[in-house]
Amino acid sequence: MDRQKLQIRLAAPRGFCAGVDRAIQIVEEALGKWGAPVYVRHEIVHNQHVVSRLESLGAVFVEELDECPPDRPVVFSAHGVPKAVPAEAERRNMVYVDATCPLVSKVHVEAERHHRAGKEIVLIGHAGHPEVIGTMGQLPDGAIALIETEDDARAFEPRDAANVAFVTQTTLSVDDTADIVSILQDRFPGIATPHKEDICYATTNRQEAVKAMADGCDLFLVIGAETSSNSKRLVEVALRAGAKDSRLVASAANVEWDWFEGVGTLGLTAGASAPEDLVQGLIAACRARFDIEVEHVTTAKETVTFKLPRVLAAEV
Ligand code: SF4
Repeated sequence: MDRQKLQIRLAAPRGFCAGVDRAIQIVEEALGKWGAPVYVRHEIVHNQHVVSRLESLGAVFVEELDECPPDRPVVFSAHGVPKAVPAEAERRNMVYVDATCPLVSKVHVEAERHHRAGKEIVLIGHAGHPEVIGTMGQLPDGAIALIETEDDARAFEPRDAANVAFVTQTTLSVDDTADIVSILQDRFPGIATPHKEDICYATTNRQEAVKAMADGCDLFLVIGAETSSNSKRLVEVALRAGAKDSRLVASAANVEWDWFEGVGTLGLTAGASAPEDLVQGLIAACRARFDIEVEHVTTAKETVTFKLPRVLAAEV
């Protein structure tokens, strides 16, 4: 019997961004420099495969600093941490390495600048996401108001409508955020905006690639974790851009093959925290079942890299 034909449209850019690469490298270098165990506060990036591999090398993942012994180094995750966390590490005389993505740190600096200028700050983001907790924790309680939806933007009542600024989470939907921003700008024409887009280059590029290829896809798979904000946004973008069905999967092992019934064209991408071997694993699993052809859809080339923190080079 002829095998089902499957055209796979493979997005580029996809998968690891510069901030994730750097965060993983920080844990590896910390293990090399200080030996195991190295503690990591929160999943270094939102991907269980990455976490398991680092655990096998000697990293110990915890949620809070008080779970770390004071005599072992601790790494803070790529999502950023409230200011109280490094302050507490210093109080306990701990060695720590901050793996916060420099593009998240940029948002922290912006928020502080607005606060110093006396502005009331709105953060557009998702409640409970560690990046949002980290950004809100850069300033005293009440200095930043969180807005998640267009309704929130309509309902927001600042103390002084002429003195408002906004910043955003780095991994939001570009289109949803533009709608929220336009409501804020209509209501507060003088609102201070980020110098340069807070949604990072990696989030934007991955969404653009999906938009360029989703139309005509019978199924669109995004490899990423349930906890990964940027991966979940890619599923939404694929559906809005015309994919008939779209799903988030952790890896090939989580695919249900009856999803492929009647599927001629599959869109495939990976969130910024998903390793490339998971993408290749999914393609191999498709090859084992179908007669596949892979088409590469490249919408941007990425050359961004970030330096490692100095503490990893210094004698500590
Ligand atoms: Fe940094 Fe963007 Fe990657 Fe987040 S998704 S780690 S902000 S480059």
